[in-house]
Amino acid sequence: MPAVDKLNNLYRQAEKAVDKAVDKEQIEQIRVKYLGRKGEITSILRGLSDLDPKERPAVGKLANELKNKLEAAINDKLKSLKAKPPAIEALDVSLPGKKPNYGKKHLVTQIIDEAIQIFLGLGYRVAEGPEVETDFYNFTALNTPEDHPARSLQDTFYIRGLTDPDREGEPVLLRTHTSPVQIRVMEKQKPPIYILAPGKAYRRDVADPSHVPMFHQIEGLAIDKKITFGDLRGTLEIFVKELFGEDRAIRMRPHYFPFTEPSAEVDVSCGLCKGSGCRLCSGTGWLEILGCGMVDPNVLKYGGIDSDMYTGFAFGMGVERVAVLKYGLDDIRMLYDNDQRFLEQF
Ligand SMILES: [Zn+2]
Repeated sequence: MPAVDKLNNLYRQAEKAVDKAVDKEQIEQIRVKYLGRKGEITSILRGLSDLDPKERPAVGKLANELKNKLEAAINDKLKSLKAKPPAIEALDVSLPGKKPNYGKKHLVTQIIDEAIQIFLGLGYRVAEGPEVETDFYNFTALNTPEDHPARSLQDTFYIRGLTDPDREGEPVLLRTHTSPVQIRVMEKQKPPIYILAPGKAYRRDVADPSHVPMFHQIEGLAIDKKITFGDLRGTLEIFVKELFGEDRAIRMRPHYFPFTEPSAEVDVSCGLCKGSGCRLCSGTGWLEILGCGMVDPNVLKYGGIDSDMYTGFAFGMGVERVAVLKYGLDDIRMLYDNDQRFLEQF
């Protein structure tokens, strides 16, 4: 066979092999086979001197051309192999699967949801209001005097540079309780009103085992004809028994809040000692849980409701406080440390 034909045949074989190759090792074998020191194309180039001098130039030229062409084909193939994603490892169907991490509701959200369910059952609806509030809704309309300590810079986060667009010069703040929702609802809705307003509130407290600067409250408001203090007590009793258990009792102690008159603080009987006194309840047998009272006629007036025709009660409780009492937490800051080992217990 003339050397030129032999070369062309070799090149065609090599080209096919490169095309079929699936990995670097196969490509390397092809390179060695044809272009290596003892490779088949290399051998032809080396053996040029044995050829008929007339044949030599043509064979030499073709051999060099094909050598370059094959080198280029090999480099292209290597590039395309690199660009491909790595081969998928064989699938072992007997291996245990990876367990997905399921999210769940935070304890605070769970308690809010539970409270909502109880009050929905009593005919209440959920109401919401803004966390960035005006001085008017947070204090004035809730009958809180100008010189009340809650209005001080030490207790309230005021927002610098913002003033109430409706009342010139009056400050804007982070609401210190969920009670402003009462006024916002009264402005929009005529009685009967039965609402539950859960949400965040803010106070300038330094975080310690029983305080965090951002916390949650659940506010309740009922306004109707002939609402009495007895209705308030009955409602709270149902709520506490649903939330903490049938065996728990409540007691009310007179208290003062600017927005209710009369006002009371409500205690729930201690679940740990069943009322006989222990470390959790400081030996009293009772745990403070919420504040409440009959809506002050001034507050009704601010909400645009006729206080001669209607009466109402309101109550507010700290959700974190409920979590402490229900689960015996030592430190409410744990609720916000984002430690999954703690949170996934609930
Ligand atoms: Zn106790």
